[in-house]
Amino acid sequence: MSAATPSYSDRDGWIWMDGAFVPWREAQVHVLTHALHYASSVFEGERAYGGKIFKSSEHSERLHYSAGALGFTIPWSVADLDRLKLEVMEKNGLSDAYIRPVAWRGSEQMGVSGQLNTIHCAIAAWNWGAYYGDAKMKGARLDIAKWKRPSPETIPCSAKAAGLYMICTLSKHEAEAKGYSDALMMDYRGYVAEATGANVFFVKDGKVHTPQPDCFLNGLTRQTVIGLLRERQIEVVERHIEPAEMEGFEQCFLTGTAAEVTPVAEIGSFTFEVGALAREMVGAYDKLVRAA
Ligand code: PMP
Repeated sequence: MSAATPSYSDRDGWIWMDGAFVPWREAQVHVLTHALHYASSVFEGERAYGGKIFKSSEHSERLHYSAGALGFTIPWSVADLDRLKLEVMEKNGLSDAYIRPVAWRGSEQMGVSGQLNTIHCAIAAWNWGAYYGDAKMKGARLDIAKWKRPSPETIPCSAKAAGLYMICTLSKHEAEAKGYSDALMMDYRGYVAEATGANVFFVKDGKVHTPQPDCFLNGLTRQTVIGLLRERQIEVVERHIEPAEMEGFEQCFLTGTAAEVTPVAEIGSFTFEVGALAREMVGAYDKLVRAA
């Protein structure tokens, strides 16, 4: 990274942190922070459209759930978080925004045990455009990751916890080095799982197939899009998908708060058309989040 790369730590604005608004550049943590060493951190990614946060409470509830999965309690209620996220947007003059709440274990205790650490919480928000650039029109190109989504016996797989992103970052870096915009990850059994920050759907013969979320995040966007498909009487099959099945799938798209609905044109050697249903879902999701 060149010295000229702008830093998220060097911006104008305000970040809410542990009960108060602090100037953006002063929202810092100490180097001896448990979360930095042992990944005792959970976070959310949310989007607001026209001043309204889509599924705000569901995201706040998931943040609480994720903290619980790591054995700690966030000292702010779901209602507090919902209110604070709006205050952060207002304080920063944002209406269409990406919102990033994060909660973590602090600095009182270093070592694997972190029970004495104070729990901290912060909320930042900024303008964040399309996650996959112009892929909504052309379709994203994905690598196939060598890292596998681990078994539910090895990690709290339905939490949105920092530690789970280690293999996502590795996979995404390897994909980017090859010129792809993301990577599709298989699970520990070899079934298709998800991209590094988004869920995946396939279309074949008018039906939609998507992996059963039994070892990865059942995204809120995923659930929303399944609802939109079923409203249209389109059959959605949640099941285990073998990688070789991708050969016969006609269309593919990703879903996620940041990615929204993004069509996929390639996954490794498999190609897909940016077809009518994928495009329809891009539009339907866009309409829904702006109407909500
Ligand atoms: N999987 C992973 C690994 C993610 O990071 C995300 C983004 N939170 C998703 C799926 C999609 O989740 P959501 O639709 O709730 O944003």
